[in-house]
Amino acid sequence: MNARTITESLNTPVMGEFEVVVLGGGPSGIAAAAAAARSGRSTILVERYGFLGGSGTAACISDFCGLHANVHGEHRQVVHGIADEIQERLQRLGGLKDPHLSLRSMIKAQVYDLSAYKIVLDQLMQQSGVKLLFHAFGVGVHMDSANRIDALFIESKSGRAAIRGKMFIDCSGDADIAAWSGAPYEYGDGRGNSLYPSMKFRINNVDPERAKDGRNLLPKLMEEAEARGRKFPRKGALMRPQINHIEWVANATLVKNPDGTAVDGTNVEQMSYGEVEGRRQCWDVFEFIKSVTPGFENAYIVDIAAQLGIRQTRRILGEYMLTEEDILGCADFEDSIGVNGWPVEAHTATGVTIKFANVPHSRGFNQMPYRMMLPEKIDNLLVAGRCASMTYDGQSSARVSGPCLVMGQAAGTAAALAIKEGIGARAISIPALQARLEANGAFLGRKW
Ligand SMILES: Cc1cc2nc3c(=O)[nH]c(=O)nc-3n(C[C@H](O)[C@H](O)[C@H](O)COP(=O)(O)OP(=O)(O)OC[C@H]3O[C@@H](n4cnc5c(N)ncnc54)[C@H](O)[C@@H]3O)c2cc1C
Repeated sequence: MNARTITESLNTPVMGEFEVVVLGGGPSGIAAAAAAARSGRSTILVERYGFLGGSGTAACISDFCGLHANVHGEHRQVVHGIADEIQERLQRLGGLKDPHLSLRSMIKAQVYDLSAYKIVLDQLMQQSGVKLLFHAFGVGVHMDSANRIDALFIESKSGRAAIRGKMFIDCSGDADIAAWSGAPYEYGDGRGNSLYPSMKFRINNVDPERAKDGRNLLPKLMEEAEARGRKFPRKGALMRPQINHIEWVANATLVKNPDGTAVDGTNVEQMSYGEVEGRRQCWDVFEFIKSVTPGFENAYIVDIAAQLGIRQTRRILGEYMLTEEDILGCADFEDSIGVNGWPVEAHTATGVTIKFANVPHSRGFNQMPYRMMLPEKIDNLLVAGRCASMTYDGQSSARVSGPCLVMGQAAGTAAALAIKEGIGARAISIPALQARLEANGAFLGRKW
């Protein structure tokens, strides 16, 4: 009766067999699923929520970072392919702003409407022929052998089930499939800490004209309040007007465990604590903003993100690890699948540190190697998005939406190639992959 474990005996029904099984519907997952399905492969996308977008919707991100780079002082979009299509579809719904300057005007980012983004991604999946499975939580894998995954286990309101696949693409953000299948990975900075999460919130009824000055004044107002003893979770508040200028999104929180470490997105106890603490911080910071900031006197919180925004957890140890040196040195790779121009943006206990490549004196972006998506040990698995093979610092850059879309499109295309040839992900022809990516609009960064 008092045993610490319970042994279960399970007979799990197989609910389907697909050529490509994608876990996670964030930017990497949607691009992976669309690319695989468009290559003619039966593809299922498994997502725990009832909508797509990943952190980009669930954590209220509302801003594409990493689509652009500062190329010798000129701001250019450098991520193309499925990214272009998402932008065009958003534009048709009136859900995309022109790119704006960000991070001390060094680089551009682009605001999108959260609801329009959800609709666009539904359409993208449906029109690409992807089978969507919402409200399904991936919980484990069944292995054929030590190196081959046979099926993904899911749990949902309909019970436990298995989904068989030929190729699996882990876009869970947390390298869930990789961890369950025994592929090696790292967590955070290797000392038990990781990038710090934030809870974002949306503000409505802002007076847009007065708020422009208000936003510039806010850091000083916060500093003065701090000198009087007021506490804030992080220095300053990132406040950005949305498509309708009476709506703003705020990034003003930093969620720590009681011992000061970053809340771990793979630890259910810490996540439970973090959600409550994140919402508490939102309300607390907003009360201050509203009480002192011109333009925000009549504003209110219209929405707090559905989940705490997790920046980094597990990252696989792949055939290549993308490093900070690669980002800052604008590295080239023979097996380039696309590029990333976002700087290293580390959210640490003391605040945010930004490191750019030497712009405007460099081309401002690095190529991303196919090998960063290949986990050690497992032959029929690709890992794309923020849990791909990157060092702690490398991931502090290439975790944003732009490079995640790049990895996703390449992973879906590579999975389809592997199935066509009847080989593992490691064995595919890189020139064939690159030719397909370029034919489908991707920019591999080879022309500079
Ligand atoms: C606070 C914050 C602010 C950010 N700001 C920006 C920004 O302004 N611009 C920008 O471009 N990027 C920003 N980022 C980074 C960016 O949003 C993410 O890094 C990016 O979304 C990662 O994409 P992904 O596809 O790897 O994973 P995610 O977006 O994390 O998506 C993973 C998906 O998998 C699903 N999932 C996970 N595990 C399971 C499971 N076991 N079963 C079923 N489903 C599962 C999740 O529900 C989710 O939908 C920010 C991140 C945070 C946390």
